[in-house]
Amino acid sequence: MSLGNKLDTLYRQVIMDHYKNPRNRGEMEDDDSLTVNMNNPTCGDRIQLQMKVEDGKISDAKFVGEGCSISMSSASMMTQAVKGLSVDDAMKLSEIFSNIMLGKEYDEEAFDLGDIEALQGVAKFPARIKCATLAWKAMEKGLNTEE
Ligand code: ZN
Repeated sequence: MSLGNKLDTLYRQVIMDHYKNPRNRGEMEDDDSLTVNMNNPTCGDRIQLQMKVEDGKISDAKFVGEGCSISMSSASMMTQAVKGLSVDDAMKLSEIFSNIMLGKEYDEEAFDLGDIEALQGVAKFPARIKCATLAWKAMEKGLNTEE
């Protein structure tokens, strides 16, 4: 097995793990959370993202939704990654993620991407990029309305 194939297999396992065991799945009870609904009509993915921002930091993030494994695993990874980040850092991370999806260069040292790296292969499948970026766009929209 080539290194490339091994990586693909590993990444696929990480994606399937987030799809089957989503992190931060659920709804927040308090109504002062930021709530964003977004969908990706080309694939039928739907997400409701809720975030709690306190003192310029994302103190909590939760999502519910349905869709393909890429969209749901990306939402799980995104909520995991931005929880505890400042709003500024979350926006920077989102920009890095969008650069990864576009196959552009990005600052690898800026953040520990962790599981998010598993989605980099999606860049090779343009039709699926909107699936991967759905949760991130929802996060950006929510934070932009906060300002
Ligand atoms: Zn999708």
